[in-house]
Amino acid sequence: MSASFHEMWADLRPIGRDGGTGGYHRYAWTGADADCRAWFRAQATARGMTYETDRNGNQWAHLGDPTAGDAVALGSHLDSVPSGGAFDGPLGVVSSFAAIDELRRKGAEFTRPVRVANFSDEEGARFGLACVGSRLAAGALAPDAARALRDADGTTLAAAMERAGQDPEALGPDPERLARIGAFVELHIEQGRALDLTGDRIGVASAIWPHGRWRFDFRGEANHAGTTRLEDRRDPMLAYAATVLAARRAAASAGALATFGKVAVEPNGVNAVPSLVRGWLDSRAADHTTLEALVTAVEQAASESAAQEGTTVDVVRESFSPEVSFGAGLRDTLVELLNGAVPVLPTGAGHDAGILSGTLPSAMLFVRNPTGTSHSPAENAAEDDCTAGVTALADVLEGLACA
Ligand SMILES: [Zn+2]
Repeated sequence: MSASFHEMWADLRPIGRDGGTGGYHRYAWTGADADCRAWFRAQATARGMTYETDRNGNQWAHLGDPTAGDAVALGSHLDSVPSGGAFDGPLGVVSSFAAIDELRRKGAEFTRPVRVANFSDEEGARFGLACVGSRLAAGALAPDAARALRDADGTTLAAAMERAGQDPEALGPDPERLARIGAFVELHIEQGRALDLTGDRIGVASAIWPHGRWRFDFRGEANHAGTTRLEDRRDPMLAYAATVLAARRAAASAGALATFGKVAVEPNGVNAVPSLVRGWLDSRAADHTTLEALVTAVEQAASESAAQEGTTVDVVRESFSPEVSFGAGLRDTLVELLNGAVPVLPTGAGHDAGILSGTLPSAMLFVRNPTGTSHSPAENAAEDDCTAGVTALADVLEGLACA
């Protein structure tokens, strides 16, 4: 492991970390996020790279002329999910700087401009929508819709950005900036066990499964848990519970994924039949048709169980990301630059590289995750595998941007 990687990792480690669980809380436009952003800026400056924040709050470190075209961009994100792991996001940003350091140490001569990016609000942990920074830049999210996003306390994204010193009125598509990038490569910890199962340290992404988030509002009637007869209740929790089980069965039979990982209950009292149970479904599948059929089946099960319990259900699709197929050109170049000795695999997780792949040539490198665990403090990657990741990224960068 290079000294620079170690140093960067150690600097980032305490930011937004819960000392008890070891989980990270680095939500967009909070104090922890500001500390991560200050770290990024310091890394750019320390390397003599030109630092810049774009109109959407994405951070850039430029090696060479920031206005020059055909640049090779590397990077990922520094924000986290609630109680997230240390690697999801930061591994890509740290490896990008470390790869540049490695090539400079070797005396490589850069013939194309190089950029490192930290995309803002990738996880969507605070405002509910993932990849906000890259979506805005690519024109895939309307600025008004972005500004109006609200966190759990009712704070809008616009207000949160303003508080963090970023002008929300500036939000919007950034086609000229993206047009100056000839290739974007995002290194990321794998969020599954495919590489562990094949015994490979590094993989190249083929595709990202289509995925989305749906909110299910089950409404019934609040009542006393001690005095309301079972047959007199209109309990939305029962309809919700049946829906969770139905989603699991439907996903298993479709070879896809369905997860209810977040739930809100009103009035949320131990001794009260709830009046409202709001559950969020995250669902993903290898193709659009399978995903659509799966979500329709879950909705159907929800309406049936809601009716059975004398309750109602409304379903709102909160976000959707279509299938991403990474362009074969850059993907095959990566495989070639890594001597063909890497598996090419799909993932069920969304990434900024997926959003940008519609606008510019984008590709991803995955680093082995020995347990597949992610979005959890237990997320981990072996030191040797991180080193292999930096080396692979440096090889790719050398092949793409050096004489
Ligand atoms: Zn990530």
